Amino acid sequence: MKEGGELPKPVESGEMYTCCRCQESLDLAKDYYRLNSSLYNGTRHMPVCKSCLGKIVDGYIRKYGNRREAMKRMCMAFDVYYNDDVFTPVEDDDAFIGQYFKRLGMSQCKGKTFDNSLDEGIKFAGMTFDLKSKKMREKLEAEEEANKISAEDIKKWGAGFDPEDYAEMNRHYALLKAANPRADGNQENYIMDCCRIKMHQLKASREGDMDVFQKMTELYTKNYKNGNLKSAGDSAIAEDFVYGVTVEQIEQFTPAEYYKGKELYRDFDNIGDYFQRMVVRPIKNILFGTKDKDPEFYVKDEDDGGDDDE
Ligand SMILES: [Zn+2]
Repeated sequence: MKEGGELPKPVESGEMYTCCRCQESLDLAKDYYRLNSSLYNGTRHMPVCKSCLGKIVDGYIRKYGNRREAMKRMCMAFDVYYNDDVFTPVEDDDAFIGQYFKRLGMSQCKGKTFDNSLDEGIKFAGMTFDLKSKKMREKLEAEEEANKISAEDIKKWGAGFDPEDYAEMNRHYALLKAANPRADGNQENYIMDCCRIKMHQLKASREGDMDVFQKMTELYTKNYKNGNLKSAGDSAIAEDFVYGVTVEQIEQFTPAEYYKGKELYRDFDNIGDYFQRMVVRPIKNILFGTKDKDPEFYVKDEDDGGDDDE
């Protein structure tokens, strides 16, 4: 700064100045934007040249995803006045940076710096905006990844199923393999078939196709028995029953026993009303030939003795 607090004379074209970023000696009046901030009283121009400033703003655009936040961040860095009303008309201009600085010459912007922007309550979404788009990107990538069917699965189960079908078969396969760790080659085939049947059974259950569901349930039973397979642990069976049915387990219960079975009943209490009504009741009807329609069946069963929440 010049001595005595005097403002320097406006620079004239031809006065050279070295850009603090690229170190090029350039024409101060032509190659640098003019500024109001007292930080630059020595030259009354930006310390970085126009070309460098463009690169800095480009970097912010890449970071924040849009010109507005990028400009705010640049103004913040160089103590330049930022105001939406000044920026909006030039936002879509290819030369928006130069246009913006031109507009800063308007009378309503005279003498203003980023301090004025702060006083006016400027809001910088910057990083939050970026995090949001980053999260969205990551979510999309995760979904894509989840929907990708591995070559391994296609080799194992064949092509043409949906991602959730493969997931379901793999899940059931793990369950049966855990229960039958010493399955021979023959049993392995039965396990694979059980998984395919289970997948179709669950699909039928989801789609409310009770005919297919029943057929698949019968097929599963037959296949399971023929393979002489062992059932998984109780908790796994309970879990499986939530989504479909594990036949061996069900066969151990007559309807009366089923609904009197306190342990089992408690399990289903936890599943929630939806599964009681939409899954458990239809399964029971299919398996036992009953015609229950009313979800209140469970709480009004005379034999039940009020062993429920109501
Ligand atoms: Zn430069």
